[in-house]
Amino acid sequence: MRSAFESMPYLAQMAGPMTSAKESSVISKELIEKLPKTDLHVHLDGSVRLSTLIELAREYNVKLPSYTEEGLKELVFKPEYESLVDYLKGFDYTCAVLQSELALERTAYELAQDNQQEGVRYVEVRFAPQLHVHAHLSMENVLKSVNRGMERAKKEFNQRSEVREGQEPPFEYSIVVCALRYFSGETSEYYHTMFRAHAFSPSKTVFSLASLELAQAAVQVRDEHGIPITGFDLAGAEAGYPAEEHIDAYAFAHKFFMMKTVHAGEAYGPESIFQAITDLHADRIGHGTFLLDPTMITDSSINDREGYVKELAQYIADRRITLEICLTSNMQTNPKLRNLSAHPFRDMMRARLSTTICTDNRTVSNTTVSEEIHRAMKYLDLGPHALKRSVIYGFKRSFFPGGYLEKRRYVRRIIDYYESLERAHPELMDGGATASDSSDLSDHDDLHDLRDE
Ligand SMILES: [Zn+2]
Repeated sequence: MRSAFESMPYLAQMAGPMTSAKESSVISKELIEKLPKTDLHVHLDGSVRLSTLIELAREYNVKLPSYTEEGLKELVFKPEYESLVDYLKGFDYTCAVLQSELALERTAYELAQDNQQEGVRYVEVRFAPQLHVHAHLSMENVLKSVNRGMERAKKEFNQRSEVREGQEPPFEYSIVVCALRYFSGETSEYYHTMFRAHAFSPSKTVFSLASLELAQAAVQVRDEHGIPITGFDLAGAEAGYPAEEHIDAYAFAHKFFMMKTVHAGEAYGPESIFQAITDLHADRIGHGTFLLDPTMITDSSINDREGYVKELAQYIADRRITLEICLTSNMQTNPKLRNLSAHPFRDMMRARLSTTICTDNRTVSNTTVSEEIHRAMKYLDLGPHALKRSVIYGFKRSFFPGGYLEKRRYVRRIIDYYESLERAHPELMDGGATASDSSDLSDHDDLHDLRDE
């Protein structure tokens, strides 16, 4: 099958020659785990340890289809899913147990630990607080609980002598809150109450109100409690639930310096990504899988589909709007991508888009950041040099909670650490900087700039 890239000559003009990763340049999982990495797209409720889910379900009398990890892997958290609906089933169980401060704190703590254990140094944990708020659990306490868990794991990690003495960069994190494109009265107690209070409003008005309320809450809790809530996200079904219903929420987030990401182009065409950047002014895009695919356009008012995709891709590349790539998750939820080699990530790299590799859901997708990188090297020609660029992009395009100078110093430490690993492991340098790389101003100048820090 011809890739989307080959069918679009204009992208070839955007792209430089690419070093293809031969089997020999696939770095071992062990070494990938040593590299400092980010996860900028990971859902808390999709990443609960199964042992914890079972324990919490027993504690809170939540009915599970099995009370063993093997049983849950067979019935719910499977290696492959039949459909998106099948994929989403696991969230019903995890959300059902995440209804107390202790459960939220514990799962956040464990998520941070799981990341630390595979070398992730910076994580942005995301979740939809309105799925966890109820009569006995306030918005503030939901956010404070998740923060307590993350903060405890950070402190413990950073107390290690390797970090204190400066041999290794510290662990950092921030929180991204998710509004939902769609929910019903059954989705959570909070949403049920909203529908009751707005019984005479169309559903889309309720979606708008809920996301504006979330943006206001996130800003207020961030400012009053000093919690590092740095990003606002929009998740859920794209088709039929357009971004424009969330313009007010994103305008509010923008006005108060909250960074913005939007799930878009995951199961829907480039026009959803267009809406995310024009209506919601997204700084990053969650997935963006079908950005380069004119055949996914369904909007009949777009006549020149190739031209539309070209302009869109160029804008995103030029503005360095980073795509949060979740390979395994895409493979599991999209029948078109069952074969990972068909994933457009390769074309995105060729077009020099800014990408960062993420997990989406560690438990539901049964994966880790290191595993995702390993797969990208094995199946999608991600070579060591492109890997380094993508990893550094994760840190640079993060919604880092500190000031700009602090962020630069942190990224500088990460680059130094990465380069010390390169010196110890020459395989990380394979296919190193080529002529095309040094002419790639947007990436390269940026890196040089940071050398002075
Ligand atoms: Zn996601």
